[in-house]
Amino acid sequence: MPELPEVETIVRDLRRLVLGARIEHVTVLRPDLIRGDPAEFEQALGGTRIVEIGRRAKNIVCALEDAPPGANRLIINLGMTGRVLVQPADRHEPQYLGVRFLLADGRRILYQDVRRFGCLEMTGTAEWEARSSTLGVEPLSDAFTPEALHRLTRASRVAIKPWLMDQRHVVGVGNIYASEALFRARVNPRKAARRLLRRESVALHDAIRTVLQEAIDFRGTTLLDYRDASGESGGFALRLRVYDREGQPCINCGTTIRRIVQGGRSTFFCPTCQR
Ligand SMILES: [Zn+2]
Repeated sequence: MPELPEVETIVRDLRRLVLGARIEHVTVLRPDLIRGDPAEFEQALGGTRIVEIGRRAKNIVCALEDAPPGANRLIINLGMTGRVLVQPADRHEPQYLGVRFLLADGRRILYQDVRRFGCLEMTGTAEWEARSSTLGVEPLSDAFTPEALHRLTRASRVAIKPWLMDQRHVVGVGNIYASEALFRARVNPRKAARRLLRRESVALHDAIRTVLQEAIDFRGTTLLDYRDASGESGGFALRLRVYDREGQPCINCGTTIRRIVQGGRSTFFCPTCQR
């Protein structure tokens, strides 16, 4: 599932490739991917120009010029297997195509999704901002400080690993980067959030930012499905230290990496480094 670094990579690609582009025509091939009425979605997008491309949590947020009032934001959530691909006019279109955005210059933005847990929608600025305000802090923003993390964890008895993955606290950190950050910070994933020591909050804050930034630098983690906007895999999978390494020796101490299940998701950790 794409997490913050993967969505950020796609956003940066899209900015480079299609910022300022005019959308001529939109075709919805899989209506269940659209929140709201698919015909209205097609109609509202036709003739608009993409003037801003950003990210909030795991959402791609595009601001549109010449859009109907109350529908000047396009929000794309990739779900489990969604991809956003920018293709020249003469390229063969991939399978599992969900939405086709034909650009005035002949290129296409394609939304492809094998499992169709993704979602696209048009919304207004005020409506989007209201929803955005219910989401947690952006971990790469100035608002995310060691003190903020420590303060936020005080209220919760939940174990720190599922706590980190809850988008109401900190956004964009999913299963892979939660395991990786806890390993780097040497924090046991089963420890209750509110029992985190101050020094552990400082270490975890640093580890979250470092691992997300490194993953962005390597253009994300491809385990199976994730691709950037050009259809290429991310390079961070080879840099994972603990995720998906059950039974293998810890790279720090040689102890066998363990896998446990928390909240229905696998957690990987070193029982020696993360006491
Ligand atoms: Zn270890």
